[in-house]
Amino acid sequence: MIRGKFADEFGFISSYVVVSDESALVIDPGTAGDPGDNIIQLLRDIGLGPGDVVGILCTHGHPDHVGGAHRLKKTTGAPVLIGEKDGPILEDPQLFLKERMFLDVAERMTMKVDRGPLRVNYKGVEPFRLLRDGNTVNVGDVTLHVIHTGGHSAGHCVFHDRANKVLFTGDEASNFPNDPRKFYLDLSGSMSARSTALSTMKSLGADYLLPAHDIPHLFEDVRLLIEQVGDGVIHFQDSILQHLEARNEADVEQLVFDIRQSRSIPVPQSYEFLLVTTITAVLQGFQRAGLVRTDDKGVWSPK
Ligand SMILES: [Zn+2]
Repeated sequence: MIRGKFADEFGFISSYVVVSDESALVIDPGTAGDPGDNIIQLLRDIGLGPGDVVGILCTHGHPDHVGGAHRLKKTTGAPVLIGEKDGPILEDPQLFLKERMFLDVAERMTMKVDRGPLRVNYKGVEPFRLLRDGNTVNVGDVTLHVIHTGGHSAGHCVFHDRANKVLFTGDEASNFPNDPRKFYLDLSGSMSARSTALSTMKSLGADYLLPAHDIPHLFEDVRLLIEQVGDGVIHFQDSILQHLEARNEADVEQLVFDIRQSRSIPVPQSYEFLLVTTITAVLQGFQRAGLVRTDDKGVWSPK
């Protein structure tokens, strides 16, 4: 594990290097320029060079995890791999703002985010391979099985090393099950896909859970942790529905206000715009399930 920058309330950004048989596979290269240099240094420390990197594997296409992909690819020559539906935002970082966040907040966000560690002014990179559920990625003797989760973002994947019982969970599950930072979805994301994915992940029998933020979950019950994350996801969805039912009619800003007031979901101080995006994605999911409806003015009501 390589600990990257401390990204305000997002905590540490983590990258991983899987080494087997003199070959290395990088999982989540991190932000633009960081921890890219540390990845190369780690390789040198264990007697490998940039040319030994066989791939740069991304759990998803968000700036804090793929901003460094372009640079690391240039240094190593290794191909970049990412879930099919996140390929476009890896290639064009501005698409992340245009399609995965609200346009009206995107500009403010660009300013804010570009100053912080989650900056989005990085160069995109064309993915070499688009991953689908059931694919495998190899490095030396290690085989990683690709599981498409599609919760946190449409193309999010987790990677499972069955033989070593290791699960790289990206942003779908972290070591802090009730941490509000970890509930965020972009507009392409789905809380119900995340719930389903968590059930799948729970059944894998992994002993090590390696998330894309903060510390890994080792030597404890991974199954129990994933169950707790799943409970948090359900609570998050229930709270939104309850606030909507209490108002009978509400736009997303009103729901953000209610949630802040009631403290039913702990919300970080910065990056509040992510809550707007997340709640919208959740409401869109409810709409697909026939639970809520919306008019053309962005007012939502229960069905
Ligand atoms: Zn993310």
